[in-house]
Amino acid sequence: MAEKGKILGEEIFQDYNNKNISDDMIAYPDCITLEASIDDLAKVMKIDLNKEKPYNILRYINKLKKSYLFKNLSENTLESIAKNIKKEKFNKGDYIIKEGTYGNTFYLISKGKVTITKDGKPLRVLEQGECLGEKSLLSNDSLRTASAIAEEKVICYVIYKKEFDMILCDSNTREYLLRKLAFQNTDIQLSDLFYIKFLGKGKFGSVSLVHNKQNFYAIKAISIKMVEREKMLWKYFVNERSIMLGLDHPFIVKMVKSLRNQNYCFILMEFVNELNLDDHLSKKRTRNNIYETQFYIGSMLLMLDYLQKKHIAHRDIKPSNIMIDPNGYLKMIDFGIAKVLKDYTSTIIGTPHYIAPEILQGKGYSLSCDFWSLGICMFEIFYGIYPFGNYANEVIDIYKDVLKKNLVFPSENSKFVNINNFIKDLLTKKVNERLCNVSKLKHKQFFEGFDFNKLNDFQLTPPYKPVKTDLTNFFKETTPYESILKEEKESTPQNKKKKKNDDNENDDYNPNWFEEF
Ligand code: ADP
Ligand code: MG
Repeated sequence: MAEKGKILGEEIFQDYNNKNISDDMIAYPDCITLEASIDDLAKVMKIDLNKEKPYNILRYINKLKKSYLFKNLSENTLESIAKNIKKEKFNKGDYIIKEGTYGNTFYLISKGKVTITKDGKPLRVLEQGECLGEKSLLSNDSLRTASAIAEEKVICYVIYKKEFDMILCDSNTREYLLRKLAFQNTDIQLSDLFYIKFLGKGKFGSVSLVHNKQNFYAIKAISIKMVEREKMLWKYFVNERSIMLGLDHPFIVKMVKSLRNQNYCFILMEFVNELNLDDHLSKKRTRNNIYETQFYIGSMLLMLDYLQKKHIAHRDIKPSNIMIDPNGYLKMIDFGIAKVLKDYTSTIIGTPHYIAPEILQGKGYSLSCDFWSLGICMFEIFYGIYPFGNYANEVIDIYKDVLKKNLVFPSENSKFVNINNFIKDLLTKKVNERLCNVSKLKHKQFFEGFDFNKLNDFQLTPPYKPVKTDLTNFFKETTPYESILKEEKESTPQNKKKKKNDDNENDDYNPNWFEEF
């Protein structure tokens, strides 16, 4: 029952084109109402109904942005999906999804509770904002593996596969969303993992390719004994784990979970590919490719934009920490020295050719150090050489160049003026003059005509697409991952830092650091 002061019929505002009210409203005797037409309200609120996105579309977009599956899609794609959303109501006890049937509908719970059951046994309860039937939206002939039953009156936003297919007609976005779904499975244990091969040895840990008979993963192992010897390292691993756990971006490798056994801590993550941008650039012969630079630097800008909003400095932006996925899109890896930076820090850390001058000066630096490294990457991608220390043999000579040498371009060709200006904005030694505002960088002339929305949704043609290799044969491998660890030699840390600094102090060593894993 609606009482004095309650507004009725506001749902018209949710969809200006649909002026029907779905429920009957019956007045009690002596009821007095004040009425306002939608046109009058729009006039008072200064809304142009022809130009504004209907309120319900905005609401759906916001709901989609909050859902695990869709939240990283571009505003344009979200709007197309939102326009196809329907509402469905269920009563207590209704089956929303029935186990064993073919599904072609996706549900986002808008109101009420839903119980998931398998073989008649309740598994869990889903609430507002959670999704049902994601898989059937993304793959063909998908059988529902569980039932969903309304616990009470439930309202769902519904998307049908046929309409969804028309919106996402390219396979890349679908592939990305399917991978996301697979990484949602955090029940995986170490004993489920089988070893395929060694992928790389980084500064402190070793990374291997493994599978669980359904998916491939990259797993980074960190020896607990090594950290006990090199106490200063503990914070890096704890940082890497906690930072990666909070990241969810299409261009950043997705961490699935952390694991631990008696001797090692592990970070289980998405396996990207075995090709990194550095390998690709060193094999490539052609330079001065504007589209390639727009595509790669545009992708890195989206990564930095995301990290900047979370106050994370990666501190090791360089092509060897960027992988090229099988579709030719980039993914950032290696958060080994990343740090949440609300203001300044002063630890001297990074890779010589990419390190920002303010880091070397030791006076304190902020997130802008990553934008310097981006400038170096851009110079390298376009011109094929480093702007500073390209001919230096010693690290100290690289540092001298970074600190003192003026930026010189191999070509002042008028065709390159936009790219050179963009690089200049990034490779400005004075931090407060460096352009670190992603929105301004995206609108510079260098990116004129470049569609960041399409890039975000994997709808652009990449400049290079690696040859796709089918790895499914590897599912036959049954060597337990843990069994190979004993044979592997522990990594020895390089670049030991003797200097006491603010990132890692032995004094606050937490002997139980690994318990977080
Ligand atoms: P470190 O922090 O020790 O430098 P990285 O995270 O850079 O370690 O990993 C070392 C190497 O392992 C990388 O250079 C890359 O070749 C490989 N690697 C790391 N993560 C992945 C991944 N998710 N997929 C594929 N290869 C990876
Ligand atoms: Mg690395």
